[in-house]
Amino acid sequence: MEQLLPRFLEYVGIDTQSDPYSKSTPSTEKQLKLAKKLVTELHTIGMEEVSIDANGYIMATLPSNMEKEVPTIGFIAHMDTTPDFTGKNVSPQIIKEYDGGDIVLNKGKEIVLSPDYFPELLQYKGQTLITTDGTTLLGADDKAGVAEIITAMEYLREHPEIKHGKIRVAFTPDEEIGRGAHKFDVKKFGAEWAYTIDGSQIGELEFENFNAASATIKIKGKSVHPGYAKDKMVNAIHIANQFLSLLPPNEVPEKTEGREGFFHVHKIKGEIEEAEIELIIRDHDAQHFEARKQLLKDIAGKLSDRFGDFIELNIENQYFNMREKVEPVFHIVEIAEEAMKSLDIEPILKPIRGGTDGSQLSFMGLPCPNIFAGGHNFHGKYEYVPLESMQKAVEVIVKICEFTAIQIK
Ligand SMILES: [Zn+2]
Repeated sequence: MEQLLPRFLEYVGIDTQSDPYSKSTPSTEKQLKLAKKLVTELHTIGMEEVSIDANGYIMATLPSNMEKEVPTIGFIAHMDTTPDFTGKNVSPQIIKEYDGGDIVLNKGKEIVLSPDYFPELLQYKGQTLITTDGTTLLGADDKAGVAEIITAMEYLREHPEIKHGKIRVAFTPDEEIGRGAHKFDVKKFGAEWAYTIDGSQIGELEFENFNAASATIKIKGKSVHPGYAKDKMVNAIHIANQFLSLLPPNEVPEKTEGREGFFHVHKIKGEIEEAEIELIIRDHDAQHFEARKQLLKDIAGKLSDRFGDFIELNIENQYFNMREKVEPVFHIVEIAEEAMKSLDIEPILKPIRGGTDGSQLSFMGLPCPNIFAGGHNFHGKYEYVPLESMQKAVEVIVKICEFTAIQIK
């Protein structure tokens, strides 16, 4: 367990920012730098079948130490950090015995991590916090997960008295740009189910996420001299405006929470001749999700009737709620819940207002709930992780291996 912190600090020191505009896998060469280090480390701690494929996906095996057949399970974390904020030259600060006060991240820039703004900090009073220096993100999302999985495997290697079945681990590139699962070889992984260690605060256990689609609405107009435009001009800007006015005004991210879905318009550009709207649809409920897509079609149809055939609507599904794939094998959530309870961790089961690699993997045949990695305030300079939460994540992984072997007949 002593290696957990040094490991984590070493990983966050390697810039692994992914790039949504790149077409290659991994999207950035630099992710391979961490990948190579992890391959070496997996060998060092005695893992078997260590492999890295042409796309940078790493897999390894901890062999079973039991006679009896038990299910092969897996643990997965991602190596990249978000393109939204720099992960270059990460210089972590370690705050021992956090006193519950303000943490000055950067004196010169007056950047302060304060419980006034982030009250969750107070639950970590007395613990060791790892923060940024205020100029970069930390990368606990998800290098905490990577360090925790490796440390748990090392722990199991060193404690053969803990009986477990065959354990598979995987580290993936490009999760932050939605492509972490795309080239994941589920068959090669060969686990009956798995867990991503990619959640936030201690206790999080997630098996529900949004159904997600994106939509583009292209509107063609007709420009005519405004003085002579009567019954001739078609102004694409006005049609775009009408389109937006027909969406439910309260079903937007800033007015919804829990299981409430939304439309989120994130881009609009327009001239008289042409306008374009980009939006995303999110909903946990499959029927509501379909109804939202239908609403867009209805609005496009209505406006086409009124203005002629000037509107082109294109909807693409992005990912689906994993709940339907996890519910039939719900014991995989229960094992994680029991693992947490046995360690005095209160499980926090809540629907994710987003997606995970696990949702895609679940639909690829590998049911895959998400477990906390311990960090807070992902994707920005206020990101931090309590060391104690990371240690608990390691213990949860170990317990899940142990309980799977005991409980499954
Ligand atoms: Zn993540």
